[in-house]
This record gives sequence, structure tokens and C-alpha cells, in this order.
Amino acid sequence: EPYIPKYIEINYMEGSTDKKWSSREFSWTKKLEANNKKVFGNHSFRPNQREVINATMSGYDVFVLMPTGGGKSLTYQLPALVYPGITLVISPLVSLIQDQIMHLLQANIPAAYLSANMEWTEQQEILRELDSDFCKYKLLYVTPEKIAKSDALLRQLERLHSREFLARIVIDEAHCVSQWGHDFRPDYQGLGILKQKFPTIPVLALTATATISVKEDVVQALGLMNCIVFRQSFNRPNLRYSVVPKTKKCVEDIDKFIKENHFDECGIIYCLSRMDCEKVAEKLQEYGHKAAFYHGSMEPTQRAMIQKQWSKDEINIICATVAFGMGINKPDVRFVIHHSLPKSIEGYHQECGRAGRDGQPSSCVLYYSYSDYIRVKHMLSQGVLEQTPFASGYNRASTAPSGRLLETNTENLQRMVSYCENDVDCRRLLQLIHFGEKFDSLNCQKTCDNCSKNQSCVEKDVTEIAKQLVELVKMTGQQSSSAHILEVYRGSLSQFVKKHRHETLSLHGAGKHLAKNEASRVLRHLVMEDILVEDVKKSDIYGSLSSVVKVNESRACNLFAGGLTIKLRFPSTVKAKSSRTEATPAKGPLTSVKQSSLQMDTPGLPQSEVDLNLS
Ligand code: ADP
Ligand code: MG
Ligand code: ZN
Repeated sequence: EPYIPKYIEINYMEGSTDKKWSSREFSWTKKLEANNKKVFGNHSFRPNQREVINATMSGYDVFVLMPTGGGKSLTYQLPALVYPGITLVISPLVSLIQDQIMHLLQANIPAAYLSANMEWTEQQEILRELDSDFCKYKLLYVTPEKIAKSDALLRQLERLHSREFLARIVIDEAHCVSQWGHDFRPDYQGLGILKQKFPTIPVLALTATATISVKEDVVQALGLMNCIVFRQSFNRPNLRYSVVPKTKKCVEDIDKFIKENHFDECGIIYCLSRMDCEKVAEKLQEYGHKAAFYHGSMEPTQRAMIQKQWSKDEINIICATVAFGMGINKPDVRFVIHHSLPKSIEGYHQECGRAGRDGQPSSCVLYYSYSDYIRVKHMLSQGVLEQTPFASGYNRASTAPSGRLLETNTENLQRMVSYCENDVDCRRLLQLIHFGEKFDSLNCQKTCDNCSKNQSCVEKDVTEIAKQLVELVKMTGQQSSSAHILEVYRGSLSQFVKKHRHETLSLHGAGKHLAKNEASRVLRHLVMEDILVEDVKKSDIYGSLSSVVKVNESRACNLFAGGLTIKLRFPSTVKAKSSRTEATPAKGPLTSVKQSSLQMDTPGLPQSEVDLNLS
């Protein structure tokens, strides 16, 4: 039986008619406002803060979707302060918790945390304090592992509850509950036990990232009842987005970009592997930047030192894996660069969100090559991709993912590729659709690469091209890489293509008349739609990866039966004849690639082989 979530969604970004929660007539309103000023030093509330606080203090379960930096912490810290009893906060990361507690203690709000790697005596002391009639703590932070593994803690919570001391349960970073999310943590799934044990205690779930399916997963897994959802726009008007072709000279391009646009300013460069982080940092140092690297296999003390130097502006640029950033609160990050393909749009949005917290204009540049897709896909399937840190440490996934999780990962990655391949639609629109938000690209005001191209677009029916490409894949015996297919289709006369020419004669050069990006966009679209499937494998002992395109018969037959029309949008400047000058930005690295037609279609993909760099 399908689960039907019970929630009332309050959509403040689209102007809700239910203004009940904005009221200033609640019995606690005066106290809230006074404490917001006096204790937290805020002059006013930010969007939705007042509403969320009123709803949770009224005893409802509340789900908050608010962008990073929007001020989610206040929505439980302020109620914790003015409401009797203790607020339990579940947060995924010890360093995040420590940071919060430091701020709370500075504001004279008594708070404590329990984690598995604390001294037992220290834990005992905190548990004892919780038993006292005059318990001083207003907030108790724990990691999800603690809930899952510590009976002592659950018993303690039961005692607190029976003394009517348990005021509220807060689940921070609630998207970690969902396998659909980009940041799934198994221990979060056990948190449903809290609502089972304490059904009358209001739960407040907070996240900066949730698609519709993630939201429903979270509501269900936590067992929220008649939940009120507050959601606000995830658009970040002060961030500029662009996707740039990635070449072998990527780091030079990054250097140039920073010098031209953000000289001596602060930024993050996200890299795929630990080795990439170190290499990129080293090169940037050579170019004269104050750069450092940050990843999961560094000593904790070393990581803490780098983070400190960064917040004090002694280091400008951090080259990091996604292990860096969660809970980082530096307001003046002026750029976030992705040296490689992020693994999901959600993750990408979150990582970009670390730029421009102070509201000042900031850049988000993604260096994209299709070959990175192959590499990330392989790393995902092997479980060797570094993840955002778990509470227990900076681990990689301990095992390779399988089943639904692997499928989800692959789907998320494919959506990311589609985002990069799209050179027509507004980047904001493409990101926000993903969060179930409608966005009018006129509001972008040309602050993304696609909108600022000033090009008009046409929708083109590419069904015939799609059929030909699928045919061609079959003709080559489903043994060729996508690059090879494109080469044949566009009529290359290279030795390799010639050798196999007889097999593909009827379609050799059939796509000659197309503009250079068109065929590859169609082919990649077919991969994204699962009509073609790209298998990745390690091809030799040197660890290079090769990819082979195959036909997914069950999906492809639909195409040939005429049940499927494929339409893609292209810049209307694309002419029937291929032209070398069009659509490449002046300083775009693409202009330097001209050895063969293949390389023009797939920048950064010299052959069908890609370096495998897993460390
Ligand atoms: P989130 O958890 O949503 O990413 P935080 O709770 O960490 O965001 O808050 C981000 C920053 O915004 C913090 O520095 C916090 O002090 C500040 N902040 C939160 N609410 C307000 C407010 N009403 N007025 C001014 N600053 C605020
Ligand atoms: Mg937060
Ligand atoms: Zn735009």
C-alpha cells in the first residue's frame, strides 16, 4: 500500500495565504524578540524563522527547507532558550556540534554533547547532570550513532520524558535520512524510534537540501505526524553560475580565472580525489596563490590547522574533497570552483552554497568533461569516492554500494551530466527544477553562462539522429566507445575508423552536416535516458578506464516503434554546416583543441581511454 504523507505544506516563497504562523500575538512573542536581540544579537528575524519557531512551539512537527546560511539553528536554539526543559539535537558531525556548542556557551546558553569518542567519565557526568532536578542544560547534542547504539542514552531520554523535561527533538541535516539524498547515512534511518518512543514530543527536521522524494522519505522515516513544511526559495541571486569545458590545461585556466576575477580573494576548489587536491594545490602555489589542500586522509590536527588558517585568511584557496565544507561558516567565500564533475545536482547546489554567504556577488565555475563522468561513475561503483564526513570520522564508503543505492547514485550523476551538457537553459532554472521549485529565467538577469549568451534557442526534433546513433552502436557490435561512435557518425577518416569502415558503411558520415555539439549531445542524452548504456571497465594493468556503449533493447525498441520523440533545445545560431567559430567563448579552452574532430566533440577525452586516478 503506498504511503501517503500527512503534511500541510506552507510554501512561503509562493505567497501562502495562511499567515497564522507569522502572527506576533503568540504568548511567547515578546520573549522571543527580546532574546533574539539580547542573547543572539540579531536585529530581526530572517525569512521563515519566526514562522518555524511559532509552529514548533505550538507543538507541531515541522519540516524546514531553508538554504545553507539561512539561519536554521536559531529556529531551535531560541525555542530551547525560552521554553522549559531540554532540547535534544541530532547532528551528523562532531566538529559541527563542537562549533555550535562553542557559540552557545559564548552566548551563555548551557549546552552539552555526547559522542562515542568521548571519555566515559565525561559522558557519565553529563548523564548525571541530566538526571538532576535543576539540570542546567538547555540543549543536548548527540550524533545519530549515539541514538542507534546507546541504550543508556535512550533510557536517559525516557527518564527526562517522564519528568516532562524533554521539550523538543531536532533533526539537523535531515536529508541524511533518505537514500535518495546525496548524503545518506544509515544511522539516520534509525531515528524513527524517537517518534515511536515519544509520540507527543514535537520534532523539528531541518535541511538545506531536499527534493520532493527526499522530503517524503524523511517524513516517513521519522514518522512525522501532521507535519507542517516550511520551504523557501533555494535561488541564490548573488551567485553566478557557469560551466566551462575542462581540458588538460584546467589548472592554468583556473589560475587565470582567479587572477582575472578574484585576485587575492577567498575560495574553495572541489576536487574528486585526494591526489587531485594535492596536485591542484601544489600547482596553484607555483602560480603564486596562497593555496592548501584538505581531505579525509589528513591528520585531524592538520585539517583543523588548515581550516583555522583559512578562516583567518592566511590561506586563500582550499583544494578539497567534499569532506570540506559542511558547517563551514565563512561569509566571504568569493568563488567555488569544481575541478571535476560533482556527483549530484543537490551536492553541487550545496557546495556552491558555501560561496557568498554575506550576500556579495560570487562565482561558481564548474569545469566539465565527459570523461570525468566515466571516472566518477567508476569511482561510485567501487565505493572509493570520498564522502562528506560521517560523525565517526572521515571515511570513504566501507563497501561498494549496490542495488537501489548504486542506481540512485548513477541517476543523480546522470542528471548532473545533463546539467553540464545543457548549453541553453538557465542554470538556476535547471537547479531549482530539481528541488521542485518553479523559476522564471528572466529573474536570472543574465547571471548564468547560458542566460548571458544572449542567444535565442530552437527546439529541434532529433529522433532521427537518435535512431541512427543507436543503429550505429549495433553495427559496431556494441564494442565501441561513445567517442568512436561519434567519430564514425561525423565521417572521420582516421586509420582506426577506416579499419572498421566496412561494418558501418551505410552510416559512416551520416552526421556530417550537424554542428559539432549536436551529435554528441544527442548521444549523451540517449545515455542519460537509458536507451544507450555506457559500461565502464578497467582496461589494463595501468588502470586506464575504457567505456563501451551498448543498446538497452527494451528502451530502444520504443524509439524504433515510433513511441518516442526526442526533442532537444539548441542555440538557434547552430547552422546546418559545422562551423569552427561559433559558440565558443573567447577564452574557452575549447579553441585550443583542433587535432581531430573527435577531440572537438569531447574536450579532455583524447581517446576512448581515461586515466584512472583513484587515490
Ligand atoms: P544554516 O544552519 O541554515 O546553514 P546557521 O543557523 O548556521 O545557518 O546561520 C547562518 C548564519 O546566520 C549564522 O552566522 C547566524 O548567526 C546568522 N543568523 C541567523 N539568524 C539570523 C538573524 N535573524 N539575523 C542575523 N543573522 C542571523
Ligand atoms: Mg545548519
Ligand atoms: Zn540564467
